[in-house]
Amino acid sequence: MIYADNAATTKMSDAAIQTLTGLLKDTYGNPSSLYEFGQKAKEVLEQARRDVAESIGAQPNEIIFTSGGSEADNQAILSAAKMGALKGKKHIISTAFEHHAVLHTLNKLKNEGYEITLLDVHENGLVTPQQVKDAIREDTCLVTIMYANNEIGTIQPIREIGEICRSNNVTFHTDAVQAVGHIKVNVVDDNIDMLSASGHKFHGPKGVGFLYVKKGIKVFNLIEGGAQEKGRRAGTENVPGIAAMATALKESVDALDEYKAKLTPVRDKIIRGLSEIPHSALNGDAESRVPSNINFCFEGIEGESLLLLLDDKGIAASSGSACTSGSLDPSHVLLAIGRIHDVAHGSLRLSLGEDITDDEADYIIKSVKEVVEYLRGFSPVWRDLVAGKKEFIL
Ligand SMILES: *Cc1c(COP(=O)(O)O)cnc(C)c1O
Repeated sequence: MIYADNAATTKMSDAAIQTLTGLLKDTYGNPSSLYEFGQKAKEVLEQARRDVAESIGAQPNEIIFTSGGSEADNQAILSAAKMGALKGKKHIISTAFEHHAVLHTLNKLKNEGYEITLLDVHENGLVTPQQVKDAIREDTCLVTIMYANNEIGTIQPIREIGEICRSNNVTFHTDAVQAVGHIKVNVVDDNIDMLSASGHKFHGPKGVGFLYVKKGIKVFNLIEGGAQEKGRRAGTENVPGIAAMATALKESVDALDEYKAKLTPVRDKIIRGLSEIPHSALNGDAESRVPSNINFCFEGIEGESLLLLLDDKGIAASSGSACTSGSLDPSHVLLAIGRIHDVAHGSLRLSLGEDITDDEADYIIKSVKEVVEYLRGFSPVWRDLVAGKKEFIL
């Protein structure tokens, strides 16, 4: 089996598992308790906070541990919105291709009377700093733009966007769930005020993540209760999970250069191989792209069938279609970069892990070619395209 769906979730690293299981057994104290069991857990928690902070260039007291990326996104956006409203500012800028954790939160705010500007994403899967500059108004309280897109892997010009926000005195949040642990991220250099990340996207456990909040920026808690996380996130901390996330993050960040050097040529080889399929196209910029991501559209086929047949061949991949909901809506990300419905339906995302081999890359190319050809063999859409009854788009 080849697991090529690392953007959905990753396998926990051995070191992270070791941290997790070790602590589950021995360090079960409540970090808020004053006796030694508790203080030992507290030490583990604070060491994890220092490690996580260091990996993104932050200070330990700027890290809030959460249940994952979705919670961090919700807390960042809802906090900035609430702060904005206190100053009479209720305009928020984002993009059309954010993760649903961001888009659905913004939608909720829209229903509460906020005005949301969703920037168009260019065909290459990028927004420009100029677009952000042009959209900022007197009453803008937040810009939230993802660092790397989870479907097409494109990396946004975060540093420049952050600079624009800072010079206009607007809070800048980035959903960096697909960036942290995959490319270099430094909250100071990148002018970031708030950043979301998630453990299970970089070989840590599921159900744990963090929100970075720059010193001086106020956040409200989503969950009321105890005074954990300096009153910003109530609930007894998941100490083993948090420490395992810190282990995985440190490992990933220490190996970033290696990761890039290993995956980039494999990624580009697969991109070259799949580009040989007639009437296909790479989605998203080829350069400004995380090392693991490959996303293609193939005209005349259904992404869902493609996935099932690849599964039969031992390849776990993903498609943009919202298969989880059972709906046949194509991916909002592919629509945002201008793919029409028919084309967006025939999409494939491969997100590689660092253990991928050259032989596996060859096998992926060969298998996708076979499956696309096979599916086109009995696709009515493909028949119409070939017969000239419909025009090819790709
Ligand atoms: C996975 C993901 C999330 C959600 O993170 P969870 O920890 O699963 O809640 C948010 N944003 C992006 C870009 C993601 O890829």
